[in-house]
Amino acid sequence: MDASTRSRTSTVEGVHRLTADAALRTFGPGEEGLTSSQAAELLARHGPNLIREQARRPMVLVFAAEFTSPMALLLWAGGLVALVAGIVELGIAIFVVNVVNGVFGFWQEYRAERATEELKKMLSTHATVVRDGELQEVPTQDLVPGDLLAIAEGDRIGADARLVEASELQVDQSTLSGESRPVHKNAGPIAEDLPAAQLHNMVFAGTSVINGDGRAVVTATGMDTEFGRIADLTQSVREEPSPLQKELGRLTRQLSVLALGLGALFVVVAVLFVGEPWAQAFVFGLGMVVAFIPEGLLPTVTLSLAMAVQRMVRRNALVKKLSSVETLGCTTVICSDKTGTLTQNEMTVTRLWVPGVWYTVGGRGYAPVGEIRRAEPPGTGDDTGTGDSASNGDAVPDGAVAATTDPALRTLLEVAGLCNNSMVRPPGPDESRWVVHGDPTEACLLVVAAKAGLDPTALRHDHPRVRELPFDSRRKRMTTIHQVDGRRLAYVKGAPQSVPPLCSWIVRDGIRRELTEADRAEITAANDGFARLGLRVLAVAVRTVDAAADPAGYTIDDVERELTFLGLVAMEDPPREGIAEAVATCHRARIRIIMITGDYGLTAESIARSIGIVRGDEVRVVSGTELAEMSDEDLVAALRGELIFARVAPEQKYRVVATLQSMGEIVAVTGDGVNDAPALKKADIGIAMGRTGTDVSKEAADMILTDDHFASIVKAIDEGRGVYDNIRKFLTYILTSNMAEAAPSAVFLMSRGLVPLPLTVMQILTIDLGTDLLPALGLGTERPESDVMDRPPRPRTQRLMDRRVLGLAFGWYGLLEAVFALVGYLLVNVVNGWPAVPFAAEGELYARATTMTLAAIIFCQIGAVLGCRTTHASLWVIGIFSNRRIVLGIVVEILLLAALSYVPLLQDVFGTAPLLPADWAALAVLPVVMVLLDELRRWIVRRRLDARATPAA
Ligand code: ATP
Repeated sequence: MDASTRSRTSTVEGVHRLTADAALRTFGPGEEGLTSSQAAELLARHGPNLIREQARRPMVLVFAAEFTSPMALLLWAGGLVALVAGIVELGIAIFVVNVVNGVFGFWQEYRAERATEELKKMLSTHATVVRDGELQEVPTQDLVPGDLLAIAEGDRIGADARLVEASELQVDQSTLSGESRPVHKNAGPIAEDLPAAQLHNMVFAGTSVINGDGRAVVTATGMDTEFGRIADLTQSVREEPSPLQKELGRLTRQLSVLALGLGALFVVVAVLFVGEPWAQAFVFGLGMVVAFIPEGLLPTVTLSLAMAVQRMVRRNALVKKLSSVETLGCTTVICSDKTGTLTQNEMTVTRLWVPGVWYTVGGRGYAPVGEIRRAEPPGTGDDTGTGDSASNGDAVPDGAVAATTDPALRTLLEVAGLCNNSMVRPPGPDESRWVVHGDPTEACLLVVAAKAGLDPTALRHDHPRVRELPFDSRRKRMTTIHQVDGRRLAYVKGAPQSVPPLCSWIVRDGIRRELTEADRAEITAANDGFARLGLRVLAVAVRTVDAAADPAGYTIDDVERELTFLGLVAMEDPPREGIAEAVATCHRARIRIIMITGDYGLTAESIARSIGIVRGDEVRVVSGTELAEMSDEDLVAALRGELIFARVAPEQKYRVVATLQSMGEIVAVTGDGVNDAPALKKADIGIAMGRTGTDVSKEAADMILTDDHFASIVKAIDEGRGVYDNIRKFLTYILTSNMAEAAPSAVFLMSRGLVPLPLTVMQILTIDLGTDLLPALGLGTERPESDVMDRPPRPRTQRLMDRRVLGLAFGWYGLLEAVFALVGYLLVNVVNGWPAVPFAAEGELYARATTMTLAAIIFCQIGAVLGCRTTHASLWVIGIFSNRRIVLGIVVEILLLAALSYVPLLQDVFGTAPLLPADWAALAVLPVVMVLLDELRRWIVRRRLDARATPAA
């Protein structure tokens, strides 16, 4: 037994037998939690709370893999054959190429891996603990035995812990036991020794809270936890290749087969038609194979994905897997929450209603400054619905008068302030605004209570809470039970569709009486009036419960019935900044947005309209109840039009996502709660909220928004589309030079050797594996084009190497380059007397002619790399030299050419000769011509696109 195991058993043993109190005192220092210094000491003793990861693949192996891939093996074999055949230079060149290629690939993989590591660090979770008597957030890895954990719905539990308090607590222990049904937990002692998963008074690391909340003393951390022990046994790290990786794999294979086929063809033709000796022909074929194999493809793609991910982090989107970037680019529908994603989740109560009486509330934000006044019902007179009578924030808070003179209002606000877990505090020295801890929906209730002259702290003192039935998004309400002078009162607040149906009584004009149908109609009308203004409404109710009962025994069914209705609180939650623009961008990019919210239909529609998500008159609002009764066909039909889902339970998102997917859509969906996890997993892109999201939702998601802002999704899609474009640009560029490299050989073969080979095999290699490398890499880092969001999403089925890529690479850039290269070759010969004298087949002149072919291709590639940067926009618009990596690539490329041309050793190896000043002058014209021709082509394309777009518009 090793030391860690010993400490585990000694810490945990018997803790389940103790009462909650004894456990708190024995294993933890009591309700105040540890002090910071105790925690630090314990951390030093027990080490960080981490599950040891299985050793990753050692770097040496990753490095070795670069040299043992099928492509690398092919090159090794080729080199070897060349050596055996006695063509030493070619053999060595191929080996060098393979080594350069491998090192280059490793370097890119390494950088990509580093980027993902950084991301992983950012993704690390936090836990809430009581330390120094206060609730604090600490990184999960800093948890120590003895810490008092506060756990709530949606948390992923960070360590094994003994519950000392639990309310309606249910935990998903599937990570431990494989059993996916939620397990009920409580703090009571257990007499027997049971297997860990059956200990209902313990919670375990790696499991997640499905419902309720509680407190627990940490008993084991890190590898000492149950999870740690399992993790030790079964760690699987291998990830499935993504669709993009598979596509790239396929592409590489296809191109390799093409290369081999072409090589073989060239050999046969050279021998049979030109009468070349086999050895010579073989060298020739080998050159073709090497030229056509797309060596840098995979690592360049990985790197360009990783770079996009890094850019996305700066734009507030954390992508967990590189491959998600590419899926983002195909997104056709975004299903978005409302609160916090589209709106600010910064609530201000602006309206109140107690039966028969309306109020407006002044002031904005969380400063408790503003007047509460009686008002006309919304929609009457000059009422604007903003309640903004004192929105400048410095009005005298004489609203207190209204609260004290109106006891019904006072009770409403007291209950709202007490059925509340949030806190609002004044701005600190470096802060400009009042600060909220907890749920903003609840915080704004404290603010309005304070505006009415109530003191939430004093209220809490006078009405001590004995129990809470926590909020959950299925029930859409929450209850707290308080001791008030010998009585126990249940304070309930929740959605106006959730609370009034449970009410049997109402207080009206100071009298409590039975609730009639007419009252219900009035409540609905008042609620609808608020909702039409885009306000979020909560209903408030109260009930006396059995004062003698054990607080732990209260259940939702017992307490939340026969309530007395008190009134409605309506709050404003303004749209987030920049949201209308982001929505408009989605419309331009032909991405649909479907709002799926727990809020009320009218509120949702009003907000959806104000930010442009829905525009037509025929908007359908489907409620959760309707959705449950809808057939799949009806749902499909509804999903074709403009619609909003309101009052839906998070679980219902799953069905919406699945149905959209069955319609062929690529779906991105947002979510923050535990119950959102299935939909997040099901979606093509699950998006969790970094600030307000639960651990469970973050775990299920593919992407996390660090600012919870809808606009960040749109920016991420923009990047996603850009990356895919870049891969295609890169591909176009490398295929282009292949065409130009093959053409001279084709001329040689077709002329049956009459034209000597205008570009030697060694020279081909210098382009493909030398000068092309850096500019190609630069293309992989190109920023998304400004019009990426003006096009419809790319169909998932679109191949990387499609007609457009092939057409551009072979039929346009490649063809131009081939022509210019041959012209260069011809020029040198013409200047030296051709056609009177035949083509030079050897010697200085031949070397110069082939060097010129080589140089012409390189200079044309400069034009091509610039041209590949943009699909439709003019180069002048995007800035011809705006990608520094490409500029650097071009400079290096020219220096390499100069070296090839002037360094004697290289001249010997590559069969080159010094270029003359006049040659350089001619060469310099080539990129200019290429760029100009390409501009002309793009101009024609743009005109055609415009012409096509105009009649449609
Ligand atoms: P979205 O799903 O767009 O984020 P939402 O915040 O309204 O919207 P939920 O958090 O599921 O969705 O809340 C559903 C409903 O429950 C709310 O519309 C509100 O009526 C009610 N509600 C929200 N928070 C509380 C709370 N703390 N106490 C009582 N009721 C609440």
